[in-house]
Amino acid sequence: AAAEYTVAFDGRFARELSELAVPWQAEEAPSPGLLVLNEKLARELGLDPEYLRSPEGVRLLVGNHIPPGATPVAQAYAGHQFGGYSPLLGDGRALLLGEVTDRNGRLLDIHLKGSGRTPFARAGDGRAVVGPMLREYLVSEAMYALHIPTTRSLAVVGTGRQVRRDDMLPGAVLARVASSHLRVGSFQYARATENMELLKRLADHAISRHYPHAADADNPYLELFASVVSAQAELVARWMLVGFVHGVMNTDNMTISGETIDYGPCAFVDAFNPAAVYSSIDVSGRYAYANQPVLAEWNLARLAEAMLPLIDEDQEKAVGPAVEVLGGFRGQYSRAWTSGMNAKLGLGSGGGSDGETTSALVDGAIDILKDGPVDYTLFFRNLGKAARGDLRPVRGMVLDLAAFDSWAERWQALEPDAELMDSVNPAYIPRNHLVEEALAAATGGTLAPLQQLLEAVSDPFTERSGLERYAEGAPEDFGSYMTFCGT
Ligand code: AMP
Ligand code: MG
Ligand code: MG
Repeated sequence: AAAEYTVAFDGRFARELSELAVPWQAEEAPSPGLLVLNEKLARELGLDPEYLRSPEGVRLLVGNHIPPGATPVAQAYAGHQFGGYSPLLGDGRALLLGEVTDRNGRLLDIHLKGSGRTPFARAGDGRAVVGPMLREYLVSEAMYALHIPTTRSLAVVGTGRQVRRDDMLPGAVLARVASSHLRVGSFQYARATENMELLKRLADHAISRHYPHAADADNPYLELFASVVSAQAELVARWMLVGFVHGVMNTDNMTISGETIDYGPCAFVDAFNPAAVYSSIDVSGRYAYANQPVLAEWNLARLAEAMLPLIDEDQEKAVGPAVEVLGGFRGQYSRAWTSGMNAKLGLGSGGGSDGETTSALVDGAIDILKDGPVDYTLFFRNLGKAARGDLRPVRGMVLDLAAFDSWAERWQALEPDAELMDSVNPAYIPRNHLVEEALAAATGGTLAPLQQLLEAVSDPFTERSGLERYAEGAPEDFGSYMTFCGT
């Protein structure tokens, strides 16, 4: 019997926030073919993988079969891009298919990226190509496995259409799952309409979906803002701890939920480098690795501006409380980063170490990395081996052996917890040279390298035999890495 789906699609965003939703249809994919399917996620959503592999299921994943109850919409939003304000961005090449309730009762968006031009497309062709969509699939699933809040990837389907970029490249649609697609830019857009009832409705929608506790606060909208500040402080700390560079932290690419979204020219640092930038369009280095916390705070200030009239009808009275809440970002970020870094060094909060000793050791580790070039991920993974008694792998990575030995002696005196270290320091991340290799092969029609890399990064903390090359640093001839926004 043909597999069927039993999932009911809702159109809650489209219904509750119709001013931010333009009903729209995906363009026809001439010859859709499934490239990768996240079967486990499909099952969590109550979607039968067998069905999704069927011709109708594949058509659903590119937006050409509309399931009952779904009302696909392009979402409107504004945003600051590289610091400059655009009053109207919106989904130029994406559609929100609708929401589904997963096995755990969570309401989740199903969203299609690369589904054709929309009224927000401006000069864009509305399309996406195989490489960047597989990059998002791979990196978002790696982030999920690293326990970092993120949108998920359900599938990438090739459209069977050649798309014009610098070359002609195979087109694709990514099916993405998120706890919502509410962005800082959604609030900026609603605020700019001067429709306070709409802005309030958007905030109530956000509270109900993400921060229901805020509804009971004295000032629910101030509490909503505070919740977003906390979620983003925690998120960006986690990015920094794994060496993730988002690449395009525009306000339209920052969620209200605190999930990482819109993987474009993103990358993980190889050698530790505060100034690391991978995006070819980020010529000023605005979104460099070490700038990310400051840019997150800057984006949150833009969110505060959009929310002021909700926080107090008299906007001037809203400024003080908003500034105070935003002022908490740095402390929250630092606490999250510090406790994460302590864990990376195997130094739990308790134990024999006092705060000052621990913080001196963290500073010392950063100094060793800066002295580099030292592969960030491998340094910490090898430190775990040192905590088990084998200092050679990590010692072999550093230049200044005397400085390292003196640091290591003080560190080992605190009896670092190797198990804790291995549970937070990944062996496998989507390393740039491996990502490039996998995407190039996939663009040429060979999916095996992508599948193998996916297998490695989907279980990043357990070293497995046969996967040695996925744990190694970039080869010397890999050179400096750039990702291109021509997506
Ligand atoms: P991004 O930098 O990918 O977050 O995209 C910024 C804006 O450009 C969003 O409004 C996108 O929908 C839009 N956009 C990006 N690529 C295309 C495209 N090929 N066609 C139409 N719109 C696009
Ligand atoms: Mg975006
Ligand atoms: Mg986009």
